[in-house]
Amino acid sequence: MDFVISMPERPSLPVAGSAARFPVGRIWCVGRNYAEHAREFGHYPEREPPFFFSKPADALLSDGRTMPYPPQTGDLHFEAELVAALGSGGRDISRETALDHVWGYGAGIDFTRRDLQTVAKKLGRPWDLAKGFDCSAACGTLSPVSAAGHPERGRIALFVDGALRQDGDLSAMIWSVAEVISALSASVALKPGDLIYTGTPAGVGMVERGQTVRVDIEGLESLVAPIV
Ligand code: MN
Repeated sequence: MDFVISMPERPSLPVAGSAARFPVGRIWCVGRNYAEHAREFGHYPEREPPFFFSKPADALLSDGRTMPYPPQTGDLHFEAELVAALGSGGRDISRETALDHVWGYGAGIDFTRRDLQTVAKKLGRPWDLAKGFDCSAACGTLSPVSAAGHPERGRIALFVDGALRQDGDLSAMIWSVAEVISALSASVALKPGDLIYTGTPAGVGMVERGQTVRVDIEGLESLVAPIV
């Protein structure tokens, strides 16, 4: 097929133990999926169904690339998150079969321009530019389910320049990965290549130029993102 401009490169992620890469289609994110984090912002999520937002696929930051400090913010926040990468999709997926669609998992950061998000919330405006800016979706090397299984519990921790800032456990998610996939697929048809950021534990905070953020999730490859 001919295109009128050259075809943009497809975003993709490296895979543990393989030279082949995982092609990324869309990036979905769950809001407030750990109770302690939701309480930081004055919400009581155990009473609320999951809600979603998205980032453009080309907001992906991977392969150890540096994160350029984004424009129009003085309050760039990190949010450490487990990322599920879908190998197949569908609509109205049941909780019981949802995990069959996950190809692998990675450690991710949902970078957020918190000051823009606070204004957007106040004015009832969309979160897109607070959440979906360039390089805002950091994700480490994917571990295939065939090798790492489904991490349903285990430590998720984030460090800034080696100092512990977020320290949670995957088992504290309000909505499990299977429930998140099921709920999201009731709203959109999920596709192979979709990534799902599954929410962040308590302790989110600011990161500055010159600092390095690291996310460790038990059983997965660590993600390192230097901010420049
Ligand atoms: Mn998040």
